Amino acid sequence: MSLIVTGTLGIDTIDTPHGGAERVPGGSASYFAAAASAQGPVRLVGAVGGDWPAEHRVLLESFNNVDLAGLEQRSDSRTFAWGGRYLDNMNVRETTFTELGVLEEAPPEVPESFRDSELVFLANSHPSVQASFLDQLPERQLSVMDSMDLWIEIANPELHALLERVDGVMINDSEAEQLTGVSNPFTAARKVLDLGPNFVIIKKGEHGAILVHRDGTALVPAYPAGSDQVVDPTGAGDSFAGGFMAYLERTGGRDFSAIQSALAWGTVTASFTLESFGLDGLKNLTIDQLEERVEILRAAARIG
Ligand code: AMP
Repeated sequence: MSLIVTGTLGIDTIDTPHGGAERVPGGSASYFAAAASAQGPVRLVGAVGGDWPAEHRVLLESFNNVDLAGLEQRSDSRTFAWGGRYLDNMNVRETTFTELGVLEEAPPEVPESFRDSELVFLANSHPSVQASFLDQLPERQLSVMDSMDLWIEIANPELHALLERVDGVMINDSEAEQLTGVSNPFTAARKVLDLGPNFVIIKKGEHGAILVHRDGTALVPAYPAGSDQVVDPTGAGDSFAGGFMAYLERTGGRDFSAIQSALAWGTVTASFTLESFGLDGLKNLTIDQLEERVEILRAAARIG
């Protein structure tokens, strides 16, 4: 089996009420791959420009389980860059700027050695790029996609076409409302199921996540991190996805019950990301550390 991701590699500038970080490594695929690598190997496909800082490469290479054979550096292009600002309670984020750079060019190719990948994650990127990635992976068994406000707004038809082709979708609550016009997350999730996928995960930040699957519904609370532990929530969604998909890859599970367990692994993986800026919280993360937090989450979530 093999897990593959495509998405952005970005240069992020973050501003929070408690501090900020300039030009740190970010992007949806970077967070996903770093997060998944705590549980096993992950293949990354993405593009960066000539301006991609050498120290960002060094950091990504330090995650030993991340296979970078699908990373294209285009010397005459610019790397995707993004700025985000968090408001007082750290739950609301606004985008301060987006420079698409390489995202406006032809998408990166899946290398021959990656074409047998079976678990596919389409991290945030233009839905046409996500679709072209699927086309290059004929042996896929499970494909899951993410999306976000920008794409729902500017590439809605492409997004709908992609929803018909994937097994699962992960979005946050405001994106689910934007996509369906419905604020209740359960109703919104069912509306998304009508568009094609077999399951929908709606992330609700510090209020956890819900899973609506054709075989059942499940809830997972957020990891009980205090506000002093939340330094920078950027990448929490992608890290959630990385922990989630890596669990399915590692265990071979695909059914509702496996997907429910994977939710817990995604949740605790994200809890490490938000403790630092950039990818720092994911450095040297081990299965044992994740397992410890899964136990805490399990105990906290027990009912009856
Ligand atoms: P998350 O906090 O999980 O939503 O992920 C934030 C990451 O997504 C940041 O590192 C950004 O570089 C990246 N990002 C922001 N906007 C976009 C976008 N429109 N498409 C793809 N990636 C994005």
